[in-house]
Order: sequence, then C-alpha cells, then structure tokens
Amino acid sequence: MSEIEQRLEELERLGLTRRLRLVSGPQGPTVLIDGKPVLLLCSNNYLGLADHPRVREAAAEAAMRWGVGAGASRLVSGTMTIHRRLEEQLAEFKHSEACLLFGSGYLANIGVIGALAGRGDTIFSDELNHASIIDGCRLSGAQVVVYRHRDVESLEWSLHRHSGRRGGERRLIVTDSVFSMDGNVAPLSEIVELASIHGARVVVDEAHATGNLGPGGRGAVAQAGLEGEVDVVVGTLGKALGSYGAYACASAEMVRYLINTARPLIFSTAPPPPAVAGALAALQLLQERPHRVQRLRSNARALRRALAARGFAVNETDMHIVPLIVGDERDAMRLCQEGIERGVFAQAIRPPTVPAGSSRLRLTVMASHTASDLRMAADILADAAVRLGLDPAAMAAPEPEVEVRPREDEDAYADTEAYADARSLAPRHAPRSGARGPFDAEQDSVEAGEPTALDGPTAAPFDVERDTAVSWAA
Ligand code: PMP
Repeated sequence: MSEIEQRLEELERLGLTRRLRLVSGPQGPTVLIDGKPVLLLCSNNYLGLADHPRVREAAAEAAMRWGVGAGASRLVSGTMTIHRRLEEQLAEFKHSEACLLFGSGYLANIGVIGALAGRGDTIFSDELNHASIIDGCRLSGAQVVVYRHRDVESLEWSLHRHSGRRGGERRLIVTDSVFSMDGNVAPLSEIVELASIHGARVVVDEAHATGNLGPGGRGAVAQAGLEGEVDVVVGTLGKALGSYGAYACASAEMVRYLINTARPLIFSTAPPPPAVAGALAALQLLQERPHRVQRLRSNARALRRALAARGFAVNETDMHIVPLIVGDERDAMRLCQEGIERGVFAQAIRPPTVPAGSSRLRLTVMASHTASDLRMAADILADAAVRLGLDPAAMAAPEPEVEVRPREDEDAYADTEAYADARSLAPRHAPRSGARGPFDAEQDSVEAGEPTALDGPTAAPFDVERDTAVSWAA
C-alpha cells in the first residue's frame, strides 16, 4: 500500500475524509446539488453580491476593457488603474489613509504578518485565529504565543510573560475580528489598549466583518470605534464583497512598507481585473444600499430564533455565523448529508478546522435569504437531527473557559516541530525526511477538500496548533 493510500485510509478510519461537493449555479440563496435544489446555508456570499447583476456586469466589462489577467505582480507591470481605484475606494470606506490589494485573504495575512514580525520578534495570536493567520505566524519565523480565545487576561498575561526585554524586538497582536467558525467577536478595544500599554502592533482580520457589521458595514473595528487605532486591518473581497482578492488598510507609511516587504505582494500575480471590478461594484452597492447589512442582521436573528424555537441551543444574537456544535465528526457529516437530502446545504466542519470534539454544522446567513427560507431551514435541520437521534438542545457553543493560563512553553506555532514529533506529524513549514507521520497538517489541506467549508480554514486531519490550544484547556 502506498503512503498516499495509507494516509487516505487513516483519514477514512477517523471520519475525516474530505471531498469536493459540486454545486451548480451561482452562490444564490438556492443552489443545485446533484441536480436537486437546496437552500444554501453555508456560503460567505453574505450580502448576496457575488451573483448581483451589477457586480456580474462590472466584472464582464472589466474583462473586455482590461483583459482577464493582470499579467504580472503588483511590483512588475501588474498594478493597473482598476487596482488603484479599488484601493482608493476601500481606504475611504474603511476610513484609513491607504489601502493595498492582495491576491487573497490568505496571502494578505501571510504577507502582513511576515512583514511585521520575524525571527527574534513575538506574535500574540488568539487560539481560534484563522489558518491563514496561523500559517503567517509560522512562516514569519517569529516566536508565537497563543492566548486563549477572546481572553483578555490570557493575552495580558502573555504580554507580561513575554515582555520584550531584548532590545529591538517587535511585538504583534493578531486576531480575527469575527471568528470564522464561531461567529463571535474579538474584544478589540481591550486588545488595542493592551497593545498600546505593551508596545505591540495590532493586525485585525475583518474577513467576516467587512460588509456585515458596524456603521454602513464598515466592520467590527468601526463598530468598536477603533478606526485609525489598528495598525493593519486585513479583509477579503471573497465574502461580503462577493468577489476574490483581499486588502490591507493602514497608514500610508505602513502601506509603503508593505509594498516593500510583503512577499505575497511582491512575488505573486496581481488580482485579476474582473475580480477587482466586481469587488468595486459590490462596494459601491454596499455604500448605496446599506440596508443589506440590516437585512443580514435581521436574517441572522430570524434564523437563530427559528432554530431556538426548534430546540437548538443557539443564542439569540444577530451574528450571521451560527455554529450547531454536534461534537462527533461522523455525526456532523451525517447531519449535513441528511440536511442536503431534505433540502438544506449546511456544511459540516471538522478538525482541524475546529477543535476535536466540536465538529459542527456552520450555518451562514445571507441577506438574500427570506425569513421563510430560514424557518424552513430550522425545521429541516431539527427534523434531520431527530431522525439521526441527535439532540438539538445539546448543540450548544462551548462557554469560554475563564482563567486558564497559557503554559510557559506556549509558543505553539514556533514549537511546531516539537509538537509534530510528539504526534508523529511533520510540521508544515519544515518537512523533514523520515519524520513524517500518517498526516501532515498542512499538506492535507483544502485541496483534499472538506465538502468544502466554503470558508475553509485549512482543512487537514490534524492541526498542530489547534491541538495545542485544546490541550491547554484539558
Ligand atoms: N481570514 C479569515 C478569518 C477567513 O475566514 C478567510 C477565508 N476562509 C481568510 C482569511 C482567507 O481569505 P481568502 O478566502 O480571501 O483567502
């Protein structure tokens, strides 16, 4: 049996096999799966702009005017007028001095983090940050201190513990603003305050907040009244802005610095003109019709209410990401499949995207859903759960635990090799011959395809840092 076969078999045994699920048609409120219409409840097309006629037209026109590809990286010949226009508009929208486009949110996080921290520096990272942040931390070569999820005390303790006594050391705090798998919000005000006390920079990833939260959909940073106080705000064009690509908003000086240091910007082709023009049209629509944001919020409330009425343990906030935490990997997959057969597509998300034992359906609301769509979805998922012998009332999001100190050696990502050895896993960034176990956290990633966590933080059978984070709680 080849090593590949062995690895696939092992995944199968653990209930962690992934496959790509083929969806026909655009990311509307309904899609076709295997020729059958299902309500789409796991797309990040939050505002329904990916398939909006004006966005489509703008992309089509841009293809005719500028062509399909940018032809080179931003620093060679790839910076076109359409890039500049979107950067200006995004900077204005985000109330920041300047903006820089990247190929994707994944690349933006890797680029920004790598530019702001390197060997000898320290990064403080929330334990449930997105995989692109985790990978950015690893690639940077900095020491990485993982603090407990949204736990300000844990962050403060970590900052004290790693107090930057060595001269010239840079310190960086990095967090999602809205966490992709739980839909909760980082304590941004406290983070910014701690950063200023402890001499750290702050990077906030607004992938799930831009277009969805805050005044006019400007994001969680704006909602917290922190515009201008975060060093770099990263966001993607691939979710509420309905396209592909990403941006970093910052001061003009910071953007000049990123142009000179962010490797994915320097070494990767500029975003394609149709994608950039599509995002620009989506941004204009958002600004002209901010009621879409209200619609998303009220739809989120409607879904949560309908789920609660059917016995699910969801809280009645208005956050648009709704986790139904099933626990067991296979049960989550069964519930997903049963939902599809009954007409609702809500993706199952398993480790390492989420911690072991917290496999879930991650529901995402769109502004283009109707209230009756969402009530029907709640009914279908409740019936599906009951049919499978699963208890909706047990699907509660775990309460954040209080006051668990990070371990002294919590440099989780930097210590990848040590953890990898302990688990017979080869680290992503430094595969060593002979040390490779049945799985490699990074290599079994999205290509191996969860029936795609459309959103997909790295989908791999084990994730060294998530395992690590979980082990603190144990
Ligand atoms: N950050 C977060 C929090 C995300 O959820 C995602 C998308 N899964 C990304 C970054 C990556 O964005 P993109 O899809 O544009 O690469």
